[in-house]
Amino acid sequence: MAKAVERPDFVKVGYLPCTIEFVENEEWKKRPIFAEHGGDGGLFIGAHGTIYLRYDEESHEQNLRETLLHEILHAVWFVTELSQENAKEWEDPEERVVGRSSGLLLDVLQSNPKVFKYLTSP
Ligand SMILES: [Zn+2]
Repeated sequence: MAKAVERPDFVKVGYLPCTIEFVENEEWKKRPIFAEHGGDGGLFIGAHGTIYLRYDEESHEQNLRETLLHEILHAVWFVTELSQENAKEWEDPEERVVGRSSGLLLDVLQSNPKVFKYLTSP
C-alpha cells in the first residue's frame, strides 16, 4: 500500500497565514470553542488564523480533504471580505463570488504545495 501523504499543518490564504489543526474527536468534544462556534467536521476562525478539522480513527482521509477544502473556501470568503458585504444586495451573486474567489483560490493552490499534494493525493 502506498504511504499516505502527510497531513498539512499550515496554509497561507492571501495575506492570512493559517494553522491547520487536526483535532481528535474526544478532544473536540471537550473544547468549548467548538460548542461556541458550531462546526461539525471543521471550523475556520479568521481571528485565530486557524482551520480546525475533526477526526477519529474511522475518518476517511477523503472526507478530511473535502472538509479542509471547505474550510479553505471559508478562509477565501473571509480574506476577500465578501463576508463584510450584504449578499442580498448583489445583482449577480454567482459571478461576484466566483470572480472574487477564483484568483485567490488559484494562489492558495500554487503557494501551498503541501496542501495541494494532500488534497490531490489518491
Ligand atoms: Zn462551512
